[in-house]
Amino acid sequence: MDGAPRLAVHGAGRMGARVAAMAADAGMALVAVVDRQQSGALRLPRVGSLAGLPAVDVLIDFSLPDGAVAAAHWCGAHGVPLVSGTTGLHAAQWEALEQAAAKVPVLHASNFSPGLNALRLLLPRLQQLLGTEAKVSLLDVHHVHKQDAPSGTALALRASLGREDLPIESRREGEVVGDHSVRFELPHETLTLQHQAQDRDLFAAGALRAARWLLQQPAGFYGPDQWLGSKGP
Ligand code: NAD
Repeated sequence: MDGAPRLAVHGAGRMGARVAAMAADAGMALVAVVDRQQSGALRLPRVGSLAGLPAVDVLIDFSLPDGAVAAAHWCGAHGVPLVSGTTGLHAAQWEALEQAAAKVPVLHASNFSPGLNALRLLLPRLQQLLGTEAKVSLLDVHHVHKQDAPSGTALALRASLGREDLPIESRREGEVVGDHSVRFELPHETLTLQHQAQDRDLFAAGALRAARWLLQQPAGFYGPDQWLGSKGP
């Protein structure tokens, strides 16, 4: 590929706007953002639908579950690698991403933070060390605009422990970017691990790095472990 990879961003909301703003610093050439809504605040080359996109090398999606599905269909049909950070997908919507992955590289991560992914990888070891006596619970705190609960990240943390029965408390408060805590309660002691995202640039930078990595991969479905595993969290 000659020159900077051409990038389109699907969903120009809180996350998509940061990805678009940081694209050039990540060595990507932003071609357009795609959003069904016009945002007065954004001065970005916007198109109203995927059908209006010029040729691109990779698409980054931060929209809503139906948007992630539309992005997957479009990427599969046009041979474009897809990075999606959209959360709250149900089983049929995951299937659309997997179908696209038969044709193009698709990477989904419910969290693009290296610190959070390190925590996720650490949890099974902690559970092993503390034993089944420990009572485990999770907490996710996010801004009031967030549409899904529990967060995709809280679900991923719980899945890493292999115990779908663990309780997750979800709080929606003010403009909190994303806080996650995992609590292990034992007789006479409590161990709490907490991750706090300080701003959305954390996730945007991760998604852009993931996109560059994905451009080198063959068709297939990838998660954060494959992407981060290539250089460690
Ligand atoms: P947001 O509401 O600010 O922005 C979403 C944008 O997508 C909106 O502008 C909306 O108009 C647009 N959109 C929705 N459906 C669309 C469709 N079908 N076609 C075109 N545009 C569509 O939301 P946000 O805070 O930017 O978050 C977006 C998603 O990213 C959420 O699912 C959120 O949970 C997730 N998220 C993931 C990470 C991560 O690291 N993976 C981090 C933060 C947020």
